[in-house]
This record gives sequence, C-alpha cells and structure tokens, in this order.
Amino acid sequence: MSDHIMNTYGRLPVSFVKGEGCYLYDEQGQRYLDALTGIAVCGLGHSHPAVTLAISEQAATLMHTSNLYGIPKQEELADKLCDLSSMDRVFFSNSGAEANEAAIKIARKYGHTADAFKDKVDLPTIIVANKSFHGRTLSTLSATGNAKVHAGFEPLVPGFIHVDFENMDAIKQAADDNDNVVAIMVEPIQGEGGLATPATSYLQEIRTFCDEKGFLMILDEIQTGICRTGKWFAGQHSDIVPDIMTLAKGLGNGFPIGACLAKGAAAEVLVPGNHGSTFGGNPLACAAALATIKTMSEQNLEQRAADLGVYFQQGFKKSLADLIQQGLVKDIRGKGLMIGIELNKPCTELVQKALNKQLLINVTADNVVRLLPALITSNNQADEIISLVSELIRDL
Ligand SMILES: *Cc1c(COP(=O)(O)O)cnc(C)c1O
Repeated sequence: MSDHIMNTYGRLPVSFVKGEGCYLYDEQGQRYLDALTGIAVCGLGHSHPAVTLAISEQAATLMHTSNLYGIPKQEELADKLCDLSSMDRVFFSNSGAEANEAAIKIARKYGHTADAFKDKVDLPTIIVANKSFHGRTLSTLSATGNAKVHAGFEPLVPGFIHVDFENMDAIKQAADDNDNVVAIMVEPIQGEGGLATPATSYLQEIRTFCDEKGFLMILDEIQTGICRTGKWFAGQHSDIVPDIMTLAKGLGNGFPIGACLAKGAAAEVLVPGNHGSTFGGNPLACAAALATIKTMSEQNLEQRAADLGVYFQQGFKKSLADLIQQGLVKDIRGKGLMIGIELNKPCTELVQKALNKQLLINVTADNVVRLLPALITSNNQADEIISLVSELIRDL
C-alpha cells in the first residue's frame, strides 16, 4: 500500500474495488460477505441502485451551491428527518464528529445564554460516559471516554465530566458536584465501547433528570440511527425524544453526510454567524440521504432490522450454546443489526481469520465480536454469517 497515505489506520491486507448488495469484491475478483458494512454505513448494502440513481441524477443536475442560498433538497431532507424523529431543526455536516461538534457548541452556547444557567455557569459542562466514542476532532475526542483516544493530544478541550455508562447515580452525583453542568451526552448503545446495551429505562431516567434540571439531553445516534437497531432512532426503543440528536454513518448509505438535530430551546440556540460548513447539506449529499430514507421506508427495513436482529441473536445463542455454558462466550447482546458477542478473552485475531474465510467482521473493546450487517441481508446470508462466526469462535 502507498507510503503516501498518512499512517492513521491499521489496515487489513485487502483492497476492495467493487460492491453489490451484501458482497464486496477484491482486486482479484474474490467475493467477500460483508457483515460490517463499512461500520454501519451501507445499511442498504453496497451500490444500492436507488441511491446510485439519485446521486447520478443529482450530479448531472446540480452538485453544490452554498448555504448562502436556499437548497431545496436540504429542506426536504430536514423535513423528513424531523418528521421521523419529532425534532425541530437540523444542521447538516459531512461527518459524525462534525455533527457532534455542532451538538457540543449548542450546549456551550446554551449554558452561556439560557436564563437558568447564564449567571452561574462559567464553563458549560457536559456529562459524558466512560468507554464512549464521539469522534476524532479535538472537542469530540475530549468528549470520548477512552484514554487511548486522548493520548498525545492534551490539553483536552475542557467542559466534559466522564462517568460510568448505565449508572444513573453516577450522573446525578456528577451533576450535584458541579454547578457548570448543562447537558448529558450518551450513545444509546456504545458502538465502539463493546456494544454496551443499557436497559430501556436508562435513557428514560436521563430524560427525566434532564427535564428536572433543565439540562440538554444529547443522544449520539451516529452509529445506532437510521433503522440500524430496528427503529429509525434507537432512542425510540425508550420512547424518548432528546433535545439534540446526531446522525451520520447510515444516513447517506456511503455518501458522506452528518446531521445535528435539535428540539425546542436547543433548536433556537444557533443564529447566523455562529456555525457553518461549506459542504454541509449540499444537494448531492442530501439526494443520497433522501434516496436512502425513501428506500428504507418503502421496504420497511426498520422492521426487517428488528426481525433479523432477533434471528441473529437466536441463531448465535443456539450455535454457541455449549460455549456459553462453558463461559467462553460471556454475552450476546445489542439491538437489531448491532450485534455484539463478548468472549472471555481478547479475540482481535478473529478479524483476519474471518477475512481468510472471505467474511468481514470487526472486534471492539478487544474481546467483543461486532457485527453490523446490511439491513437487506437475507436469511440465508444471516445463516452463513452465524455459522462462519460460530466456527471461528469455536476454533479460537
Ligand atoms: C463513528 C462515530 C462517530 C464519529 O463519526 P465520524 O463520521 O467518523 O466522524 C461518533 N459517534 C459515534 C457513536 C460513532 O459511532
């Protein structure tokens, strides 16, 4: 591989040149079954014809103007997202980290301007979770609850307090101890942090606590959003609506786009001059996202993700029953098509071993096999994934 690529990723020794549905093809034409979809990006599978058509038609019509002008496709997408999520307004970005940057800026300014906070808060502070992942820009890496992500980039951006995930008492304690708290930011399921999947009551308790204190509830749905967990947004499993929600990965089925959605007072914080992005929400990106959402709606892939998620969990519980009994497999968790299999020892080598069998998977938090298959995965393909992954775990 070229020495001219900056050395930011440990890459597997394979290069894909073509994709179709649940399959990727390497330079030799070998076919791989993709159970990772570019980390929860290509929910509709690779090169979905509806998205390809929308992008090509839009590219031939108008790719970019500027946020200095009205952008009909952006308005249509914002309307659609607000309709699906019960949020009020959207800021479009090009990535997840940028969507979270917008969320963090809204919380900062809210702390400086909201009547409830402006006289007592000098450093608006957000409670975030240990083992979280919110991105790689300076403020989002500071929000991230992982020392490895921080290392070498100090001083971090101030204004974040880390507490254990799934621990409401820790949140309440942190809020009691610090007068500067104005927001709480969590992922519904910790995608990078080992697929920690809290009880549905956890988000409800955070919602209630934020309402009591006037805090903004920020939900990072960058990995969980867009039908991935069997609902349009994972917060809907808990029947809650956050004040701010961020999206990116699955939104454009591979076309780069992110979004920061806000509701109520949070939606009115940013005014002209406060924030922006040259490319954010341009006609091409919005056309890709609109086609993605339309296809998912038409094919009811929200329900398909929920059903297939149950199918995967049951399949793994059956095929790994003896290893669960022996304690080698400690847990099978997740929601919808966000599936985690926790082993009792590190298993990062499974990624290469799966690649040798022409299957793409991932390992997070060292000992959790992570699967993020396409929402269009067939039952036969699911069976193949279950059997290959079970075999690999058994041979470990
Ligand atoms: C991937 C991810 C991000 C960062 O998104 P980028 O597009 O890589 O900047 C943030 N939060 C969560 C939960 C993610 O999974």
